[in-house]
Amino acid sequence: MGFVFSPAAFNLLLQELKKDFKVYAPVLLKGKGRFSDTDTVGYGEINKIEDVVFDSKSYFSPKETFYPINQTLFYFTEDEYREPKIDPKGIVVFLRSCDIHAVQRLDKIMLENGPAPDYYYKQLRDKLKFILMDCPLSFDSCFCVSMGTNRTDNYSASIRPENGSYLCHVQEDINGLFASFGQPQEVTPLYVTENKITVNVPANLDLSAIIDHPIWQEYGRRCVSCGRCNTSCPTCSCFTMQDIFYQDNPKCGERRRVWASCQIDGFTDMAGGHSFRREQSQRMRFKVLHKVYDFKERFGIHMCVGCGRCDDVCPEYISFSRCVNKLAEAVQEVK
Ligand code: SF4
Ligand code: SF4
Repeated sequence: MGFVFSPAAFNLLLQELKKDFKVYAPVLLKGKGRFSDTDTVGYGEINKIEDVVFDSKSYFSPKETFYPINQTLFYFTEDEYREPKIDPKGIVVFLRSCDIHAVQRLDKIMLENGPAPDYYYKQLRDKLKFILMDCPLSFDSCFCVSMGTNRTDNYSASIRPENGSYLCHVQEDINGLFASFGQPQEVTPLYVTENKITVNVPANLDLSAIIDHPIWQEYGRRCVSCGRCNTSCPTCSCFTMQDIFYQDNPKCGERRRVWASCQIDGFTDMAGGHSFRREQSQRMRFKVLHKVYDFKERFGIHMCVGCGRCDDVCPEYISFSRCVNKLAEAVQEVK
């Protein structure tokens, strides 16, 4: 079923929705850009549909709305601990097809990769509903078509602005609000069918043949280990633990988990001074092969969804899509 909304009608829907849900979407973050006095687009809570940025890709991914950058797991004193209270509201997120596929990748790691699901992830994930943002046109760095993530049926409703109205295809009418505020109309979501960038992910990769290939040294020389590619990636899930002791009473505190990056120094450090990947070239090799080789070996789908954010944010202009294509060339070379 489909509906058309005037901006005023959609805002009435939003006000009702916000009684039971926190509603997040890509918004303009004033002054938060990479350079001083520049803006960027990231995720934030919206109050009206005009807050949503439809015509740019968000610099950060939607994952921070349900997998926080910094999350308190419990508070402790000398002899007891307590979990933080959870906001009873659900979470509605506006996101694109590639990002919905990315949530599926996070689910694999956080819910299926071990004997029990991640308790804290599951608490927020269970509250999540998707509003699919139509993608009529590809952005410059996207390669979702190559990764097969340009289409999805996994959403409650879709949305696109058109001629001053908002068109929604609805699969799950949350609280009956779409039917209450919209006018019925046939709507089909629009998907990207072609990107400027095509990526050839090498199939049947022989690890022993490319493990010492010079491309890793080349990327190792260029990468400055800033970790931006990880923090902007919708599929990266690594975190580290921090125990914070309060200054006014050092016997009390809280344990937090904080996003981590496999590209920065110290990520693989272990007791006794051991470290698995000291060289930056080893870290690049690990990241690339994790995204387009070993995740698929384990879960049957590639980890990378082709959103292109890592290309957009890298200060060294390292292109992940180009890197994967170079890997494909290297695989042919050594055959
Ligand atoms: S590796 Fe890059 S292109 Fe692939 S999902 Fe992560 S940020 Fe997007
Ligand atoms: S964003 Fe670029 S420079 Fe920074 S860690 Fe990633 S690949 Fe290296």
